[in-house]
Amino acid sequence: MTAPMLQHIPLKSAYLCPDCNSIGNCAVRCPACASEVLLGLSAVLDREVVAERKPIAQMPPIAYTHYTAMVA
Ligand SMILES: [Zn+2]
Repeated sequence: MTAPMLQHIPLKSAYLCPDCNSIGNCAVRCPACASEVLLGLSAVLDREVVAERKPIAQMPPIAYTHYTAMVA
């Protein structure tokens, strides 16, 4: 049994070919089927984590519920 060859393509140079459902690293032509219809994945998947946090003063108050234990 042979181990699969591990590869990676950085997102900024990864292109999805919708014609053959392959991902390649060429922006001009699909390396598998030569289609020129490619979708740059960084435009879809790349993300910057933008933490949208409200200051504490604008956050709604925390509702506390107080239960009293009855001891018989
Ligand atoms: Zn293709």
